[in-house]
Amino acid sequence: MIPLKTFVSERRAANLLAQIRWRDGVYCPHCRTELPIRYGSYRMFQQYLCKNCDRTFNDQTGTVFEHSAVELRKWFLALYTYIRFNTSFRQLDVEIDVSYKTVYRRVQRFLRALDAPRPQLEGPVEIDELYVKAGLKGRERDGWSRSRGLSTRGRGTYEQDKPPVFILADRGTGNRYMLAAKAADKSTIRLLLADRTEESLTVYTDGFRAYEPLEDDDAFDREYVVHSDDEYVAEDVHVNTCESQDRASDPWLSPHRGISKDKLTPYLRAFQLRRQVLRKPGEEALKTILETAL
Ligand SMILES: [Zn+2]
Repeated sequence: MIPLKTFVSERRAANLLAQIRWRDGVYCPHCRTELPIRYGSYRMFQQYLCKNCDRTFNDQTGTVFEHSAVELRKWFLALYTYIRFNTSFRQLDVEIDVSYKTVYRRVQRFLRALDAPRPQLEGPVEIDELYVKAGLKGRERDGWSRSRGLSTRGRGTYEQDKPPVFILADRGTGNRYMLAAKAADKSTIRLLLADRTEESLTVYTDGFRAYEPLEDDDAFDREYVVHSDDEYVAEDVHVNTCESQDRASDPWLSPHRGISKDKLTPYLRAFQLRRQVLRKPGEEALKTILETAL
């Protein structure tokens, strides 16, 4: 159920912000000292005075919602629908009656504040990559492409405006990660697989050459599948989980035409967050969305 009450009451929204922001206790955002004293209010927000640095702050200070003339409840609604329903910025501009530019900037700010995923891999891990058409100016129509076969031909790089996105599906933990990279080469792949809980990691890959050095590395047990055109010739080893993630990400980016390659990482984090709240009820989903950026 959509947490409607929070979206119509600024008081409720402000209370929720305070609850989440100070979940580990109130501290001064300027000097990190704990136990500041209450010092009146600023709009709907509690204001505090720090006894250490003598500066004041409120619940909003130092957050992604700081210095905004737009009501907090509107930002909560915007972020909720953006993450939950993949609402486009154009649509948000109409829904919350805030200019496109203002919506765009604030959502970007939120996305930049999201925690970077830190995979702790248990294995076996499926790894696969896809390439996003994304230039710097973002004029080109975005789209995913898969490059089949053993050669590196057709596989893109960041410089060629076709940055690779790696998909890691850890069967051990059940977690999936989508990580943008500058290039699909062996050092990037080693780095992606570096954080693991066991000494040796089983990795399922396709026949892409950049995965080959994993064979000679004692830290990895590589098994691979061969693609024949669009079909996987696979017996018991397969990268199906990665494949379904691939399909899921396409409609996610499509409302945001002309994605710029330097914005790819924030978009992928949003995608990750969306998966995280997929089965959570409204109130809980909103809390999780806010927690990741506060
Ligand atoms: Zn202070």
